Amino acid sequence: MVAIDGSAGSGKSTTAAAAAARLGFRHLDSGAIYRAVTVALLRSGRSGPALERVTRDELADLEIGVEWREQGMEVQAGGRPVPERALRSERVTAMVSQVAAVAAVRAHLLELQRDAAKGPGLVAEGRDMGTVVFPGAEVKVFLDAHPRERARRRLLQRGVHPEAAEIDSEAARLTRRDQRDASRSVAPFQQAGDAMLLDTTDLDPEAQTDEIVRLVEAARKHR
Ligand code: C5P
Repeated sequence: MVAIDGSAGSGKSTTAAAAAARLGFRHLDSGAIYRAVTVALLRSGRSGPALERVTRDELADLEIGVEWREQGMEVQAGGRPVPERALRSERVTAMVSQVAAVAAVRAHLLELQRDAAKGPGLVAEGRDMGTVVFPGAEVKVFLDAHPRERARRRLLQRGVHPEAAEIDSEAARLTRRDQRDASRSVAPFQQAGDAMLLDTTDLDPEAQTDEIVRLVEAARKHR
């Protein structure tokens, strides 16, 4: 069980996916599940403070689920896959931290995430993997990188040529989201006491993956 937490744009998804592929494990992208809840709530017509007043029954009605496909995890809402472009839309990215701060939402998603550990091995990635969802994980890593470097990567991912002014505004958006995630009262985003800090500012994805695989191999030897 590998738990990877880290700031927005620190390289978690890329690294977790590559490490899972190398190890033959599943890759749980927990952020995608919080994004799916946000998509479903927005589709139901909620916005602003109404997003935070969602009840347990209303959450159950959204039918959020995860299916394990050969190509990886598929997040569903209402029994249908939620398309990547909906999960990653600007509107969802702007609202997801507000939804993720709601205690009922976090409680509702706990079992769904833990169920992923029933597979052959798991690389779980998010904000509270090592602290709340999988506190017993054998390997815990906390990824971070300089905000400007994180912003540059995000812009490149979106196919935008990263100019200085855009890097600054994207870095400010990422930092604001991290602060919102870190200041919530339930499962705040923080480094687990026993997680290894990996600064990826000067590391390429392959070097990050190598480091995670190395930690897993070291943990296996100490079993
Ligand atoms: O990783 P990603 O950017 O997709 O996460 C989107 C948001 O989902 C985060 O900013 C955070 O608000 C929430 N999240 C969370 N706990 C997790 C994973 C994501 O609160 N384990």
